[in-house]
Formats: sequence, structure tokens, C-alpha cells
Amino acid sequence: MNPLNVMLPLYDITRFTLLDYPDIPAAIFWFAGCNLRCTYCYNPDIVFGQGKLSEEEALAFLSSRLGLLEGVVLSGGECTLYPNLISFCRSIKALGFKIKMDTNAMRPDVIRALIREDLIDYAALDYKAPASKMTDICGGGSEKRFWECFDTLQYFNTAFEVRTTFHPDLLSEEEIITMSNKLKAVGYQKPFYVQLFREGVQTLGRIETSIRLADVERLAHFVTLRK
Ligand code: SF4
Repeated sequence: MNPLNVMLPLYDITRFTLLDYPDIPAAIFWFAGCNLRCTYCYNPDIVFGQGKLSEEEALAFLSSRLGLLEGVVLSGGECTLYPNLISFCRSIKALGFKIKMDTNAMRPDVIRALIREDLIDYAALDYKAPASKMTDICGGGSEKRFWECFDTLQYFNTAFEVRTTFHPDLLSEEEIITMSNKLKAVGYQKPFYVQLFREGVQTLGRIETSIRLADVERLAHFVTLRK
């Protein structure tokens, strides 16, 4: 990991959101750096960027928002890469904030450690792709590690959701339906959120448009679509 991202883990802070943490006002901490390279990633600046803000600055910001915000979303980039994440989460919880984690689900060891200490109140887990497509779409990673993270969240009864980004040139409807069926087969009863690729936005793999149109009507029978 970039040494600067250890000392200054955050690329930026969104000071207020009502959209990113279910039902409560929150801030978003954007962690610099990522261990994947998803072709459709909308945040290349954060993935390749250097951190600009320290833990201390982030905690000072939260201290100034006591009574105004209730939660913090750890997003990025990928927050589980930050080596001091556990102690950082302890400090956030000590201030009285809830923590939601957005993760690409490639660090099950970190997720286990956080959950054992009851440091995560809600997780949004990316189910990126079937094993056969992980490298093509994400530049690496493993479906197996996704399932390890999933099993941990299920086992500890943590509130969480599973989500994926659907780019019709990268995944087929059939593959999304297979992913949905696999989730159902292991007892996942909450919505499987599928976010449709946003056309015209700069992406890491420079795929700003898709050639094929998604069969949204078919997908809607199996997943919960998000725009
Ligand atoms: S979309 Fe992929 S590359 Fe971008 S931040 Fe998420 S996991 Fe990293």
C-alpha cells in the first residue's frame, strides 16, 4: 500500500448524506486506494489517488457533528486495505456513531476481525462477478473470498446487503440470474441490488458506453434494480 495512504488514509469526506446509509444522516469517508481494478469503476481518482486526510482530521470532523450525524459510511477505494482500520473504527464508535462499510469483499480476515468486535452496524457487500469473470471485470479478486465474507456476515447476523454493478457488455442477464439463485440457495432473503451501469461517466477501463442494451424487464423478476 502507498505509505502516504497509511498516514493519510482518506481521499475525501462527504460531509452529509441521506442516501448512503439506510435511514440515518451520515458522512462518507472515502479511502484512497483499492486492491481491484474494476473496468466499470466510477472512481479512478480515488483508486489511484493518494490520501489527503488523516484519521485525526476525520475524527475531529465527526466530533464537530455530534448530534447532527448518526453514522459514517466507510467507502472508497477499499476501506479494508487501511492497516489501522480496526482502531479507527473503535474511535468512531467511541464517539457514538454507527458504521456502515462498503466493501469489495476481498478481505474476509478484516471483516471477521471487525465483526468480532462488533464494529460494523451495516455492510454493503459487492458480489462482483462469477469466478470465471472476476479477472476480466475486476483485474483480479476471487468469488471464493466474497463467499467467505458473506458467510461471516450471515453467521454473526450482521445487517448487510449484497449488490453488483451490471454492465451488459461484461455480464449477461443469465449470469446475474445465476448469481441471484446462488444467493437464494444459501438462504439470502434480502434484496440483491443490481445497479445499472451509468452511461457517459468516466470509468477506470474507459468504457463510458455499452454496446448492448440490458434486458431490464427480465432482470426485474430476479433482482432489485437500482439506477
Ligand atoms: S469499483 Fe472496483 S476498482 Fe472501483 S473502488 Fe470499487 S472495488 Fe475498487
